[in-house]
Amino acid sequence: MVEVSVVKCEDYEHQRVKSAILQSLDLTGGLENVVKPGDDVLLKVNVIVGFPPERAATTHPAVVGAMVEIIKEAGGIPWVGDSSGAYGYTARSLDISGMKKAAEKYGGKLINFESTGTYQVEVDGKILKNINIAKPAIDCDVLVSLPKMKTHQLTKYTGAVKNFFGVIPGPGKAAVHRQAPTEESLCQAVVDIYSALKPGLAVMDGVVGMEGEGAINGTPIQSKVILSSTDCVAMDAVASEIMGFSHMDVLTTKFANERGFGTGELEKIYVKGEMISDVSLDFEKSNRAYYRLPTFLGKFIFKNTENISRVFISEDDCKKCGICFESCPASAIMLEPYPVIDQKKCIRCYCCHELCRNSAVKLKTSFLGKQLLRRLLYQT
Ligand code: SF4
Ligand code: SF4
Repeated sequence: MVEVSVVKCEDYEHQRVKSAILQSLDLTGGLENVVKPGDDVLLKVNVIVGFPPERAATTHPAVVGAMVEIIKEAGGIPWVGDSSGAYGYTARSLDISGMKKAAEKYGGKLINFESTGTYQVEVDGKILKNINIAKPAIDCDVLVSLPKMKTHQLTKYTGAVKNFFGVIPGPGKAAVHRQAPTEESLCQAVVDIYSALKPGLAVMDGVVGMEGEGAINGTPIQSKVILSSTDCVAMDAVASEIMGFSHMDVLTTKFANERGFGTGELEKIYVKGEMISDVSLDFEKSNRAYYRLPTFLGKFIFKNTENISRVFISEDDCKKCGICFESCPASAIMLEPYPVIDQKKCIRCYCCHELCRNSAVKLKTSFLGKQLLRRLLYQT
C-alpha cells in the first residue's frame, strides 16, 4: 500500500523543519531507499515569480535549506531548480524567494531551468505529444517534488504533481496554456508532463499554506504540516483532503490516478503520522468556480464570447513591470505604458492574472455571464 506521512511543524525554524522532514521521511521508509551516495538529486522547488517567503506563494527557503542538508547527509548531491512562470524572471525569483541564499548556505547547486537547455520528450498525452523539458529534470538520478500547499484559481489545488509544470522553461508554458485554457484540459496537460518524468519523492511545505485566490494572490494560512511520499499523486490526494477538498475533485489527482501514474484513491493510501482529520483545515477556495466547466463549454465561452468574462488592468495597482506583457501566450497585451488587453486576441488563460505580483489584473464577469455560468455549473 502506498504511504503518505503527515507530520506537524509549528514554524520555519531550521532545526524544527529539518526534524519534521526527517520524521516524515522515516515514516515512509527512510531516505536511504530513495537516495544512494553519489546520486544527483534535483529538488524541484516552486518559485513562481519573485515573491518573498512571507507571501506563502513559494516553497519556503527553510524547507529548501533543510532538504539540501538532508540530501547531503544521505550522500547525495543536491540541486535546487525551477523556472519562473514569467519568462526571464527565474534568477530574480530564486533570489527574492530566499532559495538562492538557502541553497548557497547549505551547499546546494542552484539551477535556473531557463539556461540549462531542454530535451524534447515524446509522450502519449491527452493534450501534449512533445514536451520540452529542462535537462536537469531528466538527467538527475533522483527527482524530488518540493511543492507548496496552495489553492489554485484554475486547477483548484496545486501540489506535488502540478509543481512539475515548472520543468517547462521559457515560452513553453505559455504554449501549454494556449492548448489547454480550461481546468480540465490544463489538468490533463499537467498529467501529460508528469508522465514524462520519474519522480522518486515528494516533500510538501505545508507549514504555511495559501488559501483563496492562489497560486499567487491568495492569503497565507497556518496549516503547520510537512508531508512526504514516494508517490506525488497520493501526496496530493492527502494534502487536498487536509485543505478541505474532496480529493477526486482535484483533476490532476483524478486523471493521474485514472491513467495509472500514481495512487489517487484515498482508501488505497496508508496515511502515517497525523490523521487527516486531526490536521485538516477548511482552506478558503478560489471563487473562480466557472473554471469547472467542461472543456468544450469553457473553450466556447472564453474564446468566443469576450463580453461574458474579460480580463482588465487596474492602473491604480499596476506598477508597469511588464510581466503580463511578456507572459501572455496569445500576444494579447500591449504596453502603452500600462498594459492594454486586446479582448479579441485574449484566450482567457489567466496567466496574466496568475503572474501579476501587484494584483492589478482583474477579472470581470458580466451579469449575463454570471447567469449563464451559474446555470451551466448547476447542470454540470
Ligand atoms: S498588470 Fe501587473 S504584471 Fe502587468 S505590468 Fe501591471 S503590475 Fe506588471
Ligand atoms: S491577456 Fe491574460 S488572459 Fe488573455 S491571453 Fe493574455 S495572459 Fe491570457
